[in-house]
Amino acid sequence: MIDRVSLSRRTLLACGLAAVACPVCTGVVGTSLARAEGSHGWSYDGEGAPEHWGSLSTDFKACDLGLEQTPIDIRGATRAELAGVAPSFSPMPLKILNNGHTIQANCEPGSRTVINGEPFDLLHHFHHPSEHLLSGKSFDLELHFVHKSAAGRLAVLGVFIQPGAESAALAPIWAAMPKEAGDEQAAGVTITPGDLLPADRGFFRYHGSLTTPPCSEGVLWTVFKSPIEASPAQIRQFAALFPVNARPAQPLNQRLLLESL
Ligand SMILES: [Zn+2]
Repeated sequence: MIDRVSLSRRTLLACGLAAVACPVCTGVVGTSLARAEGSHGWSYDGEGAPEHWGSLSTDFKACDLGLEQTPIDIRGATRAELAGVAPSFSPMPLKILNNGHTIQANCEPGSRTVINGEPFDLLHHFHHPSEHLLSGKSFDLELHFVHKSAAGRLAVLGVFIQPGAESAALAPIWAAMPKEAGDEQAAGVTITPGDLLPADRGFFRYHGSLTTPPCSEGVLWTVFKSPIEASPAQIRQFAALFPVNARPAQPLNQRLLLESL
């Protein structure tokens, strides 16, 4: 048991460096979303609902058979000394699309975050309600900052959003939110993604997957403990477009779930 845990922790920390070097999930994900939607009709209800994803395509087997799937119910984490997460997201022109599954904000080509000398392309998107649970509790929204390194490593930063003050950082994204699925649009405004991060950077860390088909594993997850706020009206505006776009929690299985000190 101890051997397994220490081995897992070594593995996790090794990847943790990559992840801290690379906060995580990307445009590649957007591409696979679009492709998956076109060919296999996955969704969040009916015949394409999450419990059927694994049988919609042989490419989606990991959704059923994977043992390291995301999201999870975050509870009972092991406290550990982890390298801090310090995203440095620059202001960027908002390029936004409704891909039929969520609202996604893309970076300009060449707009990247360089961490430890390695560039990571960034995009972010939203889920309603939250995909991760915190000790069984769901939040109204969850924001995912998806990054991909040149080496193809994926890492996602997850931020819970709870009702409270109106979010000035979300406002330009919400104002430009396309009501129908379609191609990327330039919104003609600048956004500051860093303003969507919580001030308290304490986080949970584990190895997981994409939360949409093909549910590929090998994704390093960092979920911040502290939520940010959005007004009830902002939350309702997203929920009106996407009543549910969250995959249910998956079993932790043998994975180590760490919590920063
Ligand atoms: Zn997501």
